[in-house]
Amino acid sequence: MQPGKQPGLFRSKLRGRSSVRIHLINPSEVSFGTAVITPRWLYVLAAATPASFGDPSLVDETLDAVDPLDIQAGDIVGIGIHTANALRGYQIGKMARDRGAHVVFGGIHATLYPTEAHELGGAHAVVKGDGDVVWAKVLSDCCRGIPQLIYEGGRIEASEFLPARWDLVPRKSYMWASVQTVRGCPKHCSFCSVWRTDGQRPRQRASDVVVEEIVQLRRLGFRFIALADDNFYPVTLTDLRLAAEQHNTHRLNELKAIRAERFELMARLAQLPSDTIFFTQITMEAAEDTEFLDAMHAANIKGALVGVESVTTEGLKDVYKEFNAAGEDLVERLRTFRRHGVYVLGSFIFGLPSDRPETFDATALAAARAEVAFAQFVMLTPYPGTVDFIRWEKNMEASPVPIAGIPITRRWLIPPALRPKLYWPHPTMSSEEIRQRTQSVWDTFYSLKYIWARSGFIKSMRARLAFVLISKIYRQMYADTGIATDSARVSRSARWVRWLAKPCQRLFAAPPMPHLKLPEAWSTPTPLEQTSSAT
Ligand code: SF4
Repeated sequence: MQPGKQPGLFRSKLRGRSSVRIHLINPSEVSFGTAVITPRWLYVLAAATPASFGDPSLVDETLDAVDPLDIQAGDIVGIGIHTANALRGYQIGKMARDRGAHVVFGGIHATLYPTEAHELGGAHAVVKGDGDVVWAKVLSDCCRGIPQLIYEGGRIEASEFLPARWDLVPRKSYMWASVQTVRGCPKHCSFCSVWRTDGQRPRQRASDVVVEEIVQLRRLGFRFIALADDNFYPVTLTDLRLAAEQHNTHRLNELKAIRAERFELMARLAQLPSDTIFFTQITMEAAEDTEFLDAMHAANIKGALVGVESVTTEGLKDVYKEFNAAGEDLVERLRTFRRHGVYVLGSFIFGLPSDRPETFDATALAAARAEVAFAQFVMLTPYPGTVDFIRWEKNMEASPVPIAGIPITRRWLIPPALRPKLYWPHPTMSSEEIRQRTQSVWDTFYSLKYIWARSGFIKSMRARLAFVLISKIYRQMYADTGIATDSARVSRSARWVRWLAKPCQRLFAAPPMPHLKLPEAWSTPTPLEQTSSAT
């Protein structure tokens, strides 16, 4: 059931409140009925919606498509978009405006292209940056009929991040919940927009508010929780060493404080019921910091997405990620995660200028030897807001390429069936060759034989089965719908996922623990002293 279609109890809450109804919509071209991870922003903006409006209607189209008849004249519709779902978002925006609603866009894509949301999505207003604080003003202005074209949400401080309204989540529709602990990343990878949009200064939430949200989710019966952070490891041992060598005491203390707060959070997570499992995103440098990995393991942070990107030194140079390791050193670093109880989802990019046909096999081999539990193999795509995109757009100025009358540099506006799969001309391989080789690496890595072999580290049969199912779902959701060329294969994949997702969701659920208490505040000394020895 989609959140916007909660039955009588939900609707009755609206009576006696403002007659303006708020809708928050997460657009998607494909609906699976069940989704892997909760779209956190829906529940955060629900929390930012003043009580006078009643509970907003939340629609996640990865579950079910929005029902236009739910939207009435005078309602306010908030639509959050990233580049991949922008076109679907614009369709919804126009539909809502035609029905007489006020339409407000937000999210990373609207932040980068506010004019587009006005011109193509029927927007009355666009929120740029973080919406947590400014959302109440947007609603008030819309109610008074004076929405501004643009609202600058900016980058708010971590203390202003709002906890999500998990009381509104349709529990049985999601496998994993999502909680954010830190926004921003100090790195500057060329293909990533995080450091340019969320900033390079880590904005880290206090452990109290993070733990409160997690306990609320565990009470509801979520035991798998994604820590939806840009980078869970914002301070490396190298950062500490450099600050110490430069005698920059202020910086050193700042870094130590951030690091100590990470340990504090992990110590509190470690006090939660032992069946609560976390997953996060982290840079490979954490492999040098086994004290940190051990704390992650104790906190039940059992998995982490690690951006490996390339297995060659040349490939890492291509994406400005020279802080990563290549070759044998890479394999050893990824194994270190596993030795310390943190299982890796390795993320690899194909189509880098230095890639050659043999790179595909070398990558598949490295992924297997490094013992990563999951892997994703994406094709190099210039995303708006990245250094790569700026470079690509500049290159394309000289000889623009239109598809269906739309410049290729606005590729998200091209109808999905006509979109190319690769955008960079490669020096030695055709786009089709790169696509086929990428698909083949997915096929091999996620063949039943290899998945079963990878699941060998899991003791219980139920958990092993869950591993196999989630591997298959992951592969269908991200490989076939992402890089398949024919629409029949895409819809077959969607059907397959829909069929598998429900039993899988049940494997991930746990009995609710309504009386679960908050773990105590951490009172033992922080590892500041321990880190000072490292510097
Ligand atoms: S790819 Fe990861 S490490 Fe690089 S800037 Fe983005 S979030 Fe940071």
